Amino acid sequence: MNANATATGTATAELAKSGSTGPTLAGRAAAPADGPATLPARLGDVRHDWTLAEVRALFALPFADLLYHAQSVHRRWFDPNRVQVSTLLSIKTGACPEDCAYCPQSVRYDTGLSREALMEVEAVAEAAARAKAAGATRFCMGAAWRSPKDRDLRAVIEMVKSVRALGLESCATLGMLTPAQARELADAGLDYYNHNLDTSEAFYDRIIKTRTYQDRLDTLAAVRDAGMKVCCGGILGMGESQQDRAELLLTLATLPAHPESVPINQLVQVAGTPLHGADALDPLEFVRTIAVARILMPRSHVRLSAGREQMSDELQALCFQAGANSIFYGEKLLTTGNPDVEHDRALFARLGLRAEAAETTAESAGPERARESAEGRACRAPAAAAGASAATASAAPVAADA
Ligand code: SF4
Repeated sequence: MNANATATGTATAELAKSGSTGPTLAGRAAAPADGPATLPARLGDVRHDWTLAEVRALFALPFADLLYHAQSVHRRWFDPNRVQVSTLLSIKTGACPEDCAYCPQSVRYDTGLSREALMEVEAVAEAAARAKAAGATRFCMGAAWRSPKDRDLRAVIEMVKSVRALGLESCATLGMLTPAQARELADAGLDYYNHNLDTSEAFYDRIIKTRTYQDRLDTLAAVRDAGMKVCCGGILGMGESQQDRAELLLTLATLPAHPESVPINQLVQVAGTPLHGADALDPLEFVRTIAVARILMPRSHVRLSAGREQMSDELQALCFQAGANSIFYGEKLLTTGNPDVEHDRALFARLGLRAEAAETTAESAGPERARESAEGRACRAPAAAAGASAATASAAPVAADA
């Protein structure tokens, strides 16, 4: 028996043992004639009891089988030709006291990055309006802080209000939050808070020493308790092992609620940071990680995040095939480059992708969400249902429609 066959057998056995799969998981012999709807019932169900053995087994599947199952799960919950589009703005740049080994904004590394003070609220509102005009439905604001000071939080709250007033979803990433700060942001209308775990707990202290893994989990809990949606993922290509990638995804998939948004970043190597010169990750392993994330967290938006500028169009297409359904759109991420808007429009057109409306609707969702949405509509008051329709109708199309 060759090594691949052994790995496949082990992977299928692990998943079968857990009850997560049936005889069709290996995929090749059993691709259903009527499409992926006949996949075993539990594959694609939302679970919080994944085990490391199951996650490792998914990673060990043959590439084609893994992508087949990821795409099948994806279609159960999402329209596979819709991608959520966010724009990210650095509202305060550089001079961060933390020591994240990948980050050019850390004050500890000489990367030539110039510091910029917290932006004015009006300038942020103008940037958000431009992002909306370009087709973004979510506007994310990032500040290089360990945690926000009260004065800074007041300003960010005004920014959140101005973004919301434009009809955009709002997201912020400001470092660690106390429960009280999280409640203030939630009260101001902040929809999402981004706080990444970055990597596995075991590998974490090779990357960051100025805050602990538990600090990060505490902030995530504060965000969730305050009622905001969670955006949380990690960075690949920092020298971590596949075991670390599996453990990171396992931590995310066993949280009490899955993050609504799961950014999977590829390390962008910046000269002057400790991770500059790290061995590059096999691009197919990046795709594999996206596919496993999709299977583990079927309802979450998996975001193809930093590192897209270094990816070929073909690699990005494979990531979408593996279940990625969110991107950052715009010329710059916090401080590193991003594919330019025209290139993204062309790529969307070539792939037949369209931007997802701000709130996923029955019309743009997979069958599971459509069913949930129909049930929700039946229970909702008429005014709320009308509001949802209006939001959908006003969402700006991007790419293929543009
Ligand atoms: S990743 Fe965030 S917390 Fe870490 S150094 Fe960069 S800006 Fe600071």
